[in-house]
Amino acid sequence: MIKKYKIIYDREGCTKFGGCAAASKHFDIARDKKADLVGGKKNKEGLWELEISEEDYAKNKDAAEICPAKVIHIIDLETGEEII
Ligand code: SF4
Repeated sequence: MIKKYKIIYDREGCTKFGGCAAASKHFDIARDKKADLVGGKKNKEGLWELEISEEDYAKNKDAAEICPAKVIHIIDLETGEEII
């Protein structure tokens, strides 16, 4: 079975460092210099979410680790565990 993950991104807290966009194709720097979660949808809490599969996991984990503002999180959708 293919594992699924969810990226949860707090764009409000982005401090415009840009490292996430270098690590993952799912992040792009917008005109206001903050990152956009490409293809993501805004949830009720105002956070951006995107489901990804295992093949995209490592690069997005790198993006989350590199983010100085710690506004990128990844959830394992099988266990519900927040990995980062
Ligand atoms: S690495 Fe973090 S702080 Fe930097 S642009 Fe990406 S989300 Fe924003």
